[in-house]
Amino acid sequence: MQEIFENIYNKSKEEYFNYLRKLLKNNDKKFIITVNPEIIMNSEKNNEIKEMLINKNNSLVPDGISVVKKTKKYNIDIKERITGVDISEFLLKEANKNKNSLYLFGAKKEVISKLIEKIKSNYPNINILGYSDGYVKNKDKVMKEIINKKPDICMIALGVPNQELFINKYIDKVDKGIYIGVGGTFDVLSGCKKRAPHIFIKLNLEWLYRIICEPKRIGRFIKNNIVFMFKK
Ligand code: UDP
Repeated sequence: MQEIFENIYNKSKEEYFNYLRKLLKNNDKKFIITVNPEIIMNSEKNNEIKEMLINKNNSLVPDGISVVKKTKKYNIDIKERITGVDISEFLLKEANKNKNSLYLFGAKKEVISKLIEKIKSNYPNINILGYSDGYVKNKDKVMKEIINKKPDICMIALGVPNQELFINKYIDKVDKGIYIGVGGTFDVLSGCKKRAPHIFIKLNLEWLYRIICEPKRIGRFIKNNIVFMFKK
């Protein structure tokens, strides 16, 4: 795990946003991975996931308080959480300022439609190159369309680790653009699901809020987070 933790961004969220600004300005290509216990636990069984987490070309950010806490045991001082929702909101604002292009892939049909409407009205300067819900049969076809359209920003919400595996499969064919797997972010940004109230976020209890709202998450939580916390 040490190698993965050493590859996670350890400065502040503001500094990370500056880094993203530069990437966009320079038309750079970047695969961003928001690291939570689920993807780390998956990396123990799947070598492709492990490789992408230790790959220095990828940009890893600490999503999940247990990741921030656990790194301290390895003498790595990570400042704060940087979540998929934080990065997505920042990228939308930045894209609106700079008239960047965007492709969105993932979530249910009604969720992605609502989100596209919101983006059109709240961020009118963004050039939406295309979008697709995440339940299409042929996901590779969508990925190929994305590659052809060359968006400045591509957000993929298919759940961990599928979204990362899809990006990883195609990232070598990409020559510019920020590619990020954003998990449940479209559900939140579309307004279909509420993000935890600020007090939960501040107290690092966002995970608890998600379990209260969706008790069926408890199995996944135990399998990943609890096991991760007690892992040596
Ligand atoms: N999803 C999808 N296609 C699938 C499976 C999941 O588009 O085949 C979407 C799902 O609708 C949700 C997102 O992927 O919007 C994953 O959400 P989840 O809350 O599980 O992600 P987390 O933030 O916990 O990683």
